[in-house]
Amino acid sequence: MTERLFWKDAYAKEFDAKVTAVRENAIVLDQTLFFPEGGGQVGDVGTIGGIRVTDTKKEGDDILHLVEDASSFSVGQKVHGAIDWERRYKTMRLHTAAHVGFFALREFDNQCSASSGRVDEEKERSDYTFTKELTPEAITAAEARANEIISRNLDVEIWFEESEGAAFNPWTRAPGSGFPAGLRRKWRIEGFESMDCGGTHVKNTSEIGRVAMSKGKNPGGGKKRIEIRLVI
Ligand SMILES: [Zn+2]
Repeated sequence: MTERLFWKDAYAKEFDAKVTAVRENAIVLDQTLFFPEGGGQVGDVGTIGGIRVTDTKKEGDDILHLVEDASSFSVGQKVHGAIDWERRYKTMRLHTAAHVGFFALREFDNQCSASSGRVDEEKERSDYTFTKELTPEAITAAEARANEIISRNLDVEIWFEESEGAAFNPWTRAPGSGFPAGLRRKWRIEGFESMDCGGTHVKNTSEIGRVAMSKGKNPGGGKKRIEIRLVI
């Protein structure tokens, strides 16, 4: 099991760890700041022991760091890791912006739902099902609303709480988080309802800056793709 240091401090950039397994093209550590691809958020890149990490993925409770040369590592070795912070921070800002975008679009259509999403350092996209026709004017209004919410400098809270019943989302459970498994990860933007999410968020909406919302290519299935980019 890899301890998820990124859940304790989403702003930490460097860490020390011990190698617990070496695979053909990947290594596992006892703890890591590298966020593994999941919930639509890309896996982190960076360096471990001076070797490039090209992607990060989950494997059960372990986190696999895909490295350019795994043969230079051995089990038990102490290593120093550094994530590509510029890329991660843009991803965090966009991921948090996606939540704001959802709240803004729900004001246009309170029955809308967002299904699949993907976020990297370039843009965030989510596929929505709307019960009303999504006009260009509606997107412009949602963009203005999202920027208005962001400009209020709202705090983003993160916490864990006990999971009850069958509505259990493995994406937000807490293996290796330092919290007992069976907890789920919650977040809330000040003044809005709380939701489950395992992604990395900024602490205050002021960090997002300004965003642009646009319609992406048609994902099919009657859904509409909404893309969000950072303007500043
Ligand atoms: Zn989130």
